[in-house]
Amino acid sequence: MRRRSVPSWLATFVLGATAGSVLAAAPPGPAFPLFASASALAAACESGLGEVATLVGKLEKHPADAGWLAAWDDLNAAIEDRATPVSFIENVHPDPAVRDAAQACSQRWSELGSSLAQNEVLYRALMRVQPRDAIERAFASYAREGFEDAGVALPPAARERAKRINDRIGELGRQFDARIRDANVKLAFTLDDLAGVPEPVWKDKPRDAEGRVLLGIDSPTLGPVLQRADKASTRERMLRAKVTEGGDENLAVLAELVRLRQEYARLFGMKTFADFQMRRRMIGSTAKAQAFLDEVRGTVAARELRDQAELRDAKARHLDTPLAATRLERWDVSYYSERLRRERYSVDQEAFRPYFPPEESLRFVMKIAERLFGMRYTPVPATLWHPDARAWLATDAHTGKVLATLYVDLYPREGKYGHAAVWPIHSSATRIGRAPQAALVANLDRKGLTLGELETLLHEMGHVFHNNLSATRYTQQSDTYVQWDFGEAPSQMLEDWVYDKRVLKLFAEVCATCPPVPDELIDKARIARDFGKGGRVAFQLLLASYDLALYTRESPDPMALWNEMEAATPLGAFPGTRFPAGFAHIASGGYPAGYYGYLWSLVVALDLRTAFGADRLDATVGARYRRNVLAQGRERPPGELVRDVLGRETNPKAFFDDLAR
Ligand SMILES: [Zn+2]
Repeated sequence: MRRRSVPSWLATFVLGATAGSVLAAAPPGPAFPLFASASALAAACESGLGEVATLVGKLEKHPADAGWLAAWDDLNAAIEDRATPVSFIENVHPDPAVRDAAQACSQRWSELGSSLAQNEVLYRALMRVQPRDAIERAFASYAREGFEDAGVALPPAARERAKRINDRIGELGRQFDARIRDANVKLAFTLDDLAGVPEPVWKDKPRDAEGRVLLGIDSPTLGPVLQRADKASTRERMLRAKVTEGGDENLAVLAELVRLRQEYARLFGMKTFADFQMRRRMIGSTAKAQAFLDEVRGTVAARELRDQAELRDAKARHLDTPLAATRLERWDVSYYSERLRRERYSVDQEAFRPYFPPEESLRFVMKIAERLFGMRYTPVPATLWHPDARAWLATDAHTGKVLATLYVDLYPREGKYGHAAVWPIHSSATRIGRAPQAALVANLDRKGLTLGELETLLHEMGHVFHNNLSATRYTQQSDTYVQWDFGEAPSQMLEDWVYDKRVLKLFAEVCATCPPVPDELIDKARIARDFGKGGRVAFQLLLASYDLALYTRESPDPMALWNEMEAATPLGAFPGTRFPAGFAHIASGGYPAGYYGYLWSLVVALDLRTAFGADRLDATVGARYRRNVLAQGRERPPGELVRDVLGRETNPKAFFDDLAR
């Protein structure tokens, strides 16, 4: 049975309810599949694949008439309903057997996806369809690109090879992720080793037989240790563990992925995989991406050296060693940056935790969206994959109309994805009243967030707003389908909002008992944030340049290439480590030949911020932004959406000004 439009529980809200407490009291939870056991998941997987195969058969017989594009999009919605919860649960389910079953099932879905994208019957029908308006034209051309990029129009042997490469890439990507996720790295430290590390970070952690504290390398643990551990050897061990994760096996996997992607591009007559990717991106070509990175390098290089000189000086003063004999190590950077921030601006990130309890922080971020975008979140009862996971319903604050569902899973646990990320579960489709759904996964400290972590939460929720406020006609024009190098812009635009005192005052509206964060703390934090920007941007630049080199050079050895590029940085090589083995963004994630997109999106994000001027809660601009950027997904090219918010063409001035500041 396929769910054609909104699930039934949602329909009752659409028909009956307005907003507020009514929703909170409404009984049935969102229809997120429970996956009670590995065998239940495997059975659901089998029947879901069967149902979709039947639908594909029906679509093959559908005439290439005015209804064909809608039928094609219905098929996508049916696949989303069955496949995205599985690929999501693979990252969060507490039962490892369910995660394994989900991984096996995802592999089947990705095989189905690559067969579907090579379905000649459907491709020929699509080529005969006559789009009726600009949205249909954009949709049809995106669909055509999908088929053609999968190889449907290649000669038979090349087409077969393209499919085998795609399937293998999917399989290797899942292996790459699992090796990191399931490694469960633990390092043992004595209390003496942990001097300087805030007690909440280690106090409740397990101990080994000798009473030593066992720490993992998840972000809430790694960050504070690198920033605060006074013992250099402690910081070094933690950082080494982080930049060696994935092991030699993942290096081999990455090398194979790179080889396969280059071969794939050549099947299409492209010189490099980067060329293959860039022609579908906002930036348009490898040469433009390269030129952009060169311009960033030119702006940031001197600043990076200046930042590092300051850190080295701080280290020499701290250890009372002669400057000439003092060497800044990689594991010193966070520590001395944090020390200088405290010394110079009296800003201690840990000091923010009492002001930002996790649940209230989430509600605060939702409150920003309410003020800015006119949307409201209300918790709804639901039984989900873990007791920590909860569901929220998004409604329009003015009309009460149900917009979307959000699932949240906020706290760390073993076997769970270790960073913060958002998974789109359903895409919007206004033609069938399909409401979007997204899942936010984070690893927050239950005792409260630092300002930096609040910024990350807002960033991730920026992806959620993009999903939840999508109001596109077709699912495949929704948030996730925007061009990759534009996808981070809506999130990056919002990051700055947590440094705005007026915005932070909204905290009082979600937590009457929370102490208000003092204005002067925010002022100082904002100044302190700019400190170290040279190093941060330079590191992003290194990653982006590495990615681009990996996917433009002739069969590079990933580790040798990394060693060469890392050695050319001011801090030099980091012997004995293998960063690329854990660099999932460009191996298994959506960023191969695309990591520059973080910096490129930032260019657009900083330009978009200028629309808000001094008033970060301006609801008129917020509504214009929601209507143009968030609601329209990829119905129009990003440049046009941004132009309609700004009233002019986008340009990188704000980005380079900020870099120089
Ligand atoms: Zn992001």
